[in-house]
Amino acid sequence: MIIPKAEKLQPAELKEVEGIAQEFDCSILEIDGRNRCVYAILGNENHAVMFKRIAGLPYIRKVDMIESSYNLMDRRSGLSDHIVRMGETEVGKDAPFIIGGPCTIDPANPSLYLETAHALKEVGVDALRGGVWKPRTNPYSYQGDNNALDIILQAREETGLPIDVEVMDAEQLQLALEAKVDVLQVGTRNALNYSLLKQIGRMSAETNSAVLLKRGRHMASPDEFIAAAEYIVAEGNPDVMLCPRGTTPALDGYRNHPDESVTPLLKNRTWAPVVVDPSHSVGHADYVLACSLAAIAYGADGLCIESHVDPQRGIGDDPKQAITPQKMGELIQACRSAFPNRYKVG
Ligand code: PEP
Ligand code: MN
Repeated sequence: MIIPKAEKLQPAELKEVEGIAQEFDCSILEIDGRNRCVYAILGNENHAVMFKRIAGLPYIRKVDMIESSYNLMDRRSGLSDHIVRMGETEVGKDAPFIIGGPCTIDPANPSLYLETAHALKEVGVDALRGGVWKPRTNPYSYQGDNNALDIILQAREETGLPIDVEVMDAEQLQLALEAKVDVLQVGTRNALNYSLLKQIGRMSAETNSAVLLKRGRHMASPDEFIAAAEYIVAEGNPDVMLCPRGTTPALDGYRNHPDESVTPLLKNRTWAPVVVDPSHSVGHADYVLACSLAAIAYGADGLCIESHVDPQRGIGDDPKQAITPQKMGELIQACRSAFPNRYKVG
């Protein structure tokens, strides 16, 4: 939709706009309002070059795209009834889908991870998380260890729960796919790494691995977030879950700026399930329950929560933000019983 600066385009201006549109097999329809005219672009308006050339004309105020830039992620797309499944479970259908586990798997202490995994299964968690390779701000902090992959694979074997592992590059992706990891996590730092997103979409297309795409820390709009997911889906893997996890700058006192309220905006625009991460959002174990309830109130389909049997013995983020499996059990019950019309309580 083209909006001119004046009430109406002059004949020579309209001719110039029509000329540009024709180059892209589009035409222009004049819509007469009471006081001013706007102009619709008929045809495929998704031509970025056409769009920019018209928007750059000196007598044009703005050009709005009616169609979204994410054809496949759009609620109205052919994928609108696509369901993301994890084994037998449809993500978000009968209860919030809960991913839980430590921030980081400590390869020196496999039993701590395995104990946590069993305890989480006991309280009703649907999938296990655990950092094998870690994106650390400080290059001298622990960076991860291939041996940690064996530990989370053992936990899957023992509990039967699907597993979620973050990958940051092609080598890690290859190892994760060989291990048939159920959820490939793309962290906030790589949420705008379009080459990696394409590679993940392409390489996981023929596999059963889903993708949990975190929201980039500086990601401004919901549309930018959805467009990042489009990169994965366009390469052939529609099993994408969107994960708000707080943005920056932080709200003083929290680790980030909690953004669970973006959930309804995402759900109005796209069909993809939204799985909120309250742990990185608030960054303190004490606030995780409130943030989780808020996320579910906003319509989230699931939660990804850091949890550890003994947070103080954990590495990475666990000492400050992991909740115990017992608290996780209480949280799961609280989320269900706060919304009895949406979920079975029990
Ligand atoms: C994590 O899940 O431990 C993590 C590093 O998350 P984020 O990318 O959201 O910071
Ligand atoms: Mn973490």
